[in-house]
Amino acid sequence: MDKLFNSGVLTAERIETVIPPRDLWKTKKNGLVIIECPQRIPCNPCYESCPTGAILPFEDINDTPVVDYTKCIGCGRCVAKCPGLACFVADLTWGAENEALMKLPYEMLPKPEPGDEVVCLDRIGSEVSQGKVINITEPWEDSTMVVHVVVPKDRVMDIRNIKVVKNNAR
Ligand code: SF4
Ligand code: SF4
Repeated sequence: MDKLFNSGVLTAERIETVIPPRDLWKTKKNGLVIIECPQRIPCNPCYESCPTGAILPFEDINDTPVVDYTKCIGCGRCVAKCPGLACFVADLTWGAENEALMKLPYEMLPKPEPGDEVVCLDRIGSEVSQGKVINITEPWEDSTMVVHVVVPKDRVMDIRNIKVVKNNAR
């Protein structure tokens, strides 16, 4: 049976199915991947880009990804490669007790920079919280950026995008 579902944005009751195992997640340095890919489509760059085999081989190109979380190292390569911007990493071990570090795909301009204060958005673009950019990586040269953002720990399953606001002009 498919773990995920044939709809677009995940609904609240379905979000539970993509949460990493909590005991592993809260101690895993560099974080664990969250994949929100509910539709059967012919696509597998997440699998192809994963260096550890954490995303299991697809039996059919239309399969939705299945993760072996014990193998995920939070590297963010799948975050940058997924054309659907459906992969995210959340590191619950990072920073202060109430903070987490998220690694989010980002393709818009202006390009964020370390130190930027950003607005964190949910799946439908509503504002969730403020966040602070601490790093930007491009694991693949010609691909999507991965923005590392400090966010409130209790909102990691809500935050899925950022809005970059330069000069505090919103
Ligand atoms: S974050 Fe890295 S290790 Fe984890 S699933 Fe993605 S590519 Fe694999
Ligand atoms: S690369 Fe992204 S859209 Fe394609 S199967 Fe993987 S998670 Fe889904």
